[in-house]
Amino acid sequence: MPGLNAEFIPPARPVIGEAEIEAAVRVLRSGMVVQGPEVAAFEQEFAELVAGRHCVAVNSGTSALQLTLMGLGFGPGDEIIVPSFSFAASANAVRLVGAEPVFVDIEPGSFCIDPAAVEAAITPRTVAIMPVHLYGHPAAMDRIMPIAERHGLAVVEDAAQAHAAALNGQPVGSFGTAGCFSFYPTKNMHSLEGGMITTGDAGLARTLRLLRNQGMEQRYANEIVGANMRLTDVAAAIGRVQLTQLPEWTEQRRANAKFLDSRITGMITPPVADAAKHVYHQYTVRVTGDRDAAQRKLTELGIGNAVYYPTPIHRLIPYLVDGKPGPWDLPETEKAAAEVVSLPVHPSLSQADLERIADAANIAGGAA
Ligand SMILES: *Cc1c(COP(=O)(O)O)cnc(C)c1O
Repeated sequence: MPGLNAEFIPPARPVIGEAEIEAAVRVLRSGMVVQGPEVAAFEQEFAELVAGRHCVAVNSGTSALQLTLMGLGFGPGDEIIVPSFSFAASANAVRLVGAEPVFVDIEPGSFCIDPAAVEAAITPRTVAIMPVHLYGHPAAMDRIMPIAERHGLAVVEDAAQAHAAALNGQPVGSFGTAGCFSFYPTKNMHSLEGGMITTGDAGLARTLRLLRNQGMEQRYANEIVGANMRLTDVAAAIGRVQLTQLPEWTEQRRANAKFLDSRITGMITPPVADAAKHVYHQYTVRVTGDRDAAQRKLTELGIGNAVYYPTPIHRLIPYLVDGKPGPWDLPETEKAAAEVVSLPVHPSLSQADLERIADAANIAGGAA
C-alpha cells in the first residue's frame, strides 16, 4: 500500500529536456525560424519510421488529416468511414472539408475499427476509410486494405497515437494512401504542436506541400488555393530531438505495459491482436463494475487516470441528427466508452511507480 504522502503519478508526462531546449534556442538564435531546413530534415528522418514514404510536416495532427482529405479532393457529397470510438479530430477533419463521416463500430479485441462493419457501411458515395490506430494499437490493416482495393477507396490512417506501431512487422503510416501523425505534447513524441503526413504517392505529396503553403512552391507563383498549415523550424528541431528518443521510449512503454499486464488482476488488461506491435500511447483497461468508483479509488491512491473517450463521437453535439444520435448501431463502441480507463504507462515511470499503479488498479478493481 502506498503511503498517504506518496507523490501523485500523472497520466502523462511530456518531455522537454535540455536537448530540446538547446535545439529550440539554436534555431531561434539563427533567426531562421519559419519552415526551412529543420522541417526538411525532420521530414527526411521521419521517413525511416514509415518504410521510406514521402513525409510532409504540418502544424498539427488535425491539419494532417484535413490537408490529406483536401489533397485527395474530398468534399461535399462524399462519405468517409470512421470509427466513432476515437478523438473528435478524426471526424472533425472529415467535416472540415465538407464531407460526411459515416460511423462504424470497433472490434473489442483491439478497440480499433471493425473491417466487417466497414464493408457493410460502403455506399456509392463512399470515397475513403479512416482507420484510427487507437491507443497505439494498429488497426487491422491486413483486412482493411483488401476491402479498400476491391471498392476503389482511399485509406487515410489516423496514426496520431501510434508512432512506430506495426502490424506483421509493417509500420503504421505505410499501409494506406496516407498516414497522419500528431506531435502534440502528450503523444508518444512531440514538437510542442505539429503533425506529419506520410504517403507513397509522390503526386499527392507535392499537392500537400502546395496546400500547406498557400498553393506555392515558388514564392508568389501560387498554383492552387492553399492554406497555411506550415510547421515552424523551432518545432521541427524539437521534433528531431524527440525522434531520436522514440525507439527507447517505445520499448520502455512496452516494457511498462508488460509489467502491468503481469500484475493487474482486478481489471481487464489491454487486448493485443495477433501480429500487432502495440506502442501503448495509452494503457487502457476495462472496468465492468462501477467505473466511477474505480476512478475515485485510483485518484485517492495517487494514480492519474482518465477516460478516452467517455462520449463516442456520434453522440457529441456537432454529430447529432435533429438533436439525437444518428441511426448508428455501435454496441462495442458504447460498451467500451462505458468501461475503459487509462492508467499511466509513460516512459518516465519508475519501477516503484509501476508497482504502485498495479497495486492501486487491483484495489480499485475490487472497489468497482
Ligand atoms: C491527437 C489526435 C489527433 C489530433 O492531433 P493534434 O495534433 O492534436 O491536432 C487526431 N486523432 C487522434 C486519434 C488523436 O489522438
